[in-house]
Amino acid sequence: MSYDDDNIFAKILRGEAPAHVVDEDDVSLTFMDLMPQSEGHTLIIPKESAEDILHVSTEALGHVIRQTQRVAKAVDQAFHPDGVMIAQLNRAPAGQTVFHLHFHVIPRWSGEAMPFMAREMADPKNLKENAEKIRRYLINIV
Ligand code: 5GP
Repeated sequence: MSYDDDNIFAKILRGEAPAHVVDEDDVSLTFMDLMPQSEGHTLIIPKESAEDILHVSTEALGHVIRQTQRVAKAVDQAFHPDGVMIAQLNRAPAGQTVFHLHFHVIPRWSGEAMPFMAREMADPKNLKENAEKIRRYLINIV
């Protein structure tokens, strides 16, 4: 499968679709998942047009992985979950639904069900507040 420029994350990167952005740099964009699996569910994507982990440059991947660790630390400090799940799916049979490489940072709490699937659309006010909350911690993480 080749990269489709019309996927929703490509539109977010071009500013053609909205997102609650937590952080941005030359290589990556970090924003809230629209249909979060838990409070604080955040996505990290490369700006490079790569549909999955098999197609991204090692340089961009290294940067995105480091950013994923920073976000995991910030989410951990912001929400105090019992666990933090990092997920990354490649191609539809593995569960991928948006075909631009992304890493999920998902806070998990003991006793919660853990289905890996999108839920309901979140309240935009809640996503905005959570993006700000994570950003407050992220700025102090190298
Ligand atoms: P995948 O299943 O491909 O690993 O995950 C795609 C993720 O993108 C899902 O968690 C889904 O909730 C999220 N998502 C889908 N459409 C949008 C959107 O328009 N905006 C944002 N912020 N997230 C989206």
